[in-house]
Amino acid sequence: MASSPAPINLASSLLGGSPTYKMACDQLYEVAGVMGTDAGIIGRLAIPKRSLVVAVPIRMDSGEVRTFVGYRVQHSITSGASKGGLRYAPHVDLGEVAALSMWMSWKVGLMNLPFSGAKGGIACDPTKMSRGELERMTRRYTEEVLPIIGPRVDVMAPDMGTDEQTMAWIMDTYSMKVGYACPEIVTGKPVELGGCVGRREATGRGVMYCILEAMGELKIKAEGSTAVVQGFGNVGSVLCQELFQRGVKVIAIGDRTGSIRDTQGIDIPALTRHVAAGKELCKFPGVTVIPDDELLTTKCTVLAPCAMERVITADNAPRLDCRVLAEGANGPTTIEADRILAASETFVIPDILCNAGGVTVSYFEWVQDLQQYFWDESQVNDKLRELMLKAFRRVRTQAKELNLTNRMAALSLGVNKVALEKAKRGLYP
Ligand code: NAD
Repeated sequence: MASSPAPINLASSLLGGSPTYKMACDQLYEVAGVMGTDAGIIGRLAIPKRSLVVAVPIRMDSGEVRTFVGYRVQHSITSGASKGGLRYAPHVDLGEVAALSMWMSWKVGLMNLPFSGAKGGIACDPTKMSRGELERMTRRYTEEVLPIIGPRVDVMAPDMGTDEQTMAWIMDTYSMKVGYACPEIVTGKPVELGGCVGRREATGRGVMYCILEAMGELKIKAEGSTAVVQGFGNVGSVLCQELFQRGVKVIAIGDRTGSIRDTQGIDIPALTRHVAAGKELCKFPGVTVIPDDELLTTKCTVLAPCAMERVITADNAPRLDCRVLAEGANGPTTIEADRILAASETFVIPDILCNAGGVTVSYFEWVQDLQQYFWDESQVNDKLRELMLKAFRRVRTQAKELNLTNRMAALSLGVNKVALEKAKRGLYP
């Protein structure tokens, strides 16, 4: 592993010693060591280009004023407008957002999209806030980050705890500031406001394309194989539906309310209706409720963590019992766990490849908004599949040719693209 230059230690302390940011930096040093990246470039890649921390005071429904802390980190501006999701969750901090922005840079680099990486977030619990409170918080956050966003500067999208409606409020707040409707300021917005058909499903669908490709390589038939999915939100629920339609039995699912199992296969359409009706996943009738720590170690063909970071650790990695690990979430596997998996038979589809369907269709949405010319869903899905499979094959070729793990192969392609562009442009971007 390459040693970390001194400025990076400074950045680590500025970013609050966050374990997620440290994990992103350690991955960068490892891949840079393998690829022989110039130390000056590593320093520039390890420290986000621009980070903004804002106070977001709002009046709650009770009349009380509460101030939330919001973040927007633009990891890079080298390769085009920066692009990345906005996350609402209690644990959000500057280090987590910085790490996620760095992973976005490698992801858009790997996918060859004309963007740089960014991420945003507000430390809050959206499940305990009313719609009015969420709207006031989103609009105020947008006002506070206004100086550093724009359709050619930085474009947000949904992530954990945010959705199409959040994007609609951002689009409206920005549009009222500039004086005209500006759909291209965000992606993942409602179709009625210039959103892209198929964007909501894109991340889960992209995960499914990767899983089927991996199964093909491993000569495993989808029909009759099994899956375990952590997270039943945007990514996890769509993935479950896609797998169900292809005859893969989803035998266990977990979310923040608990974990359930049915070895005969969970009825995904019925579970989707149950959760859409506002009921808790773990109250779904006819299944066994299992302890959360049993979910990830359940025997299955495909394990898909689609919730949060750092859930596969040195502690549970030796007990995983899956053939394919499909990382729908960002950063679900720690560096230590990754080393354990690299020495096992597990076929890892790394996050920056596996969940890249979301930003890929976000790119399609941005292009359509700029051109004011809209595609139909079959065009979107065909193009998504084409770009996902192209990236998957590039990763596999790189892994075989350089004898790298899939993660190192994917990271090397993403990091190299950004490093090359930085080297060619000069020191400013
Ligand atoms: P979401 O808010 O729609 O869903 C999150 C899910 O995770 C929910 O089911 C929630 O209950 C579950 N969860 C939260 N805490 C949990 C815990 N402690 N244990 C188990 N489950 C827990 O979020 P999402 O958009 O589906 O994002 C999930 C992951 O996918 C995140 O890592 C996100 O960064 C990544 N991702 C999302 C997109 C996208 O387009 N939405 C794109 C790329 C990557």
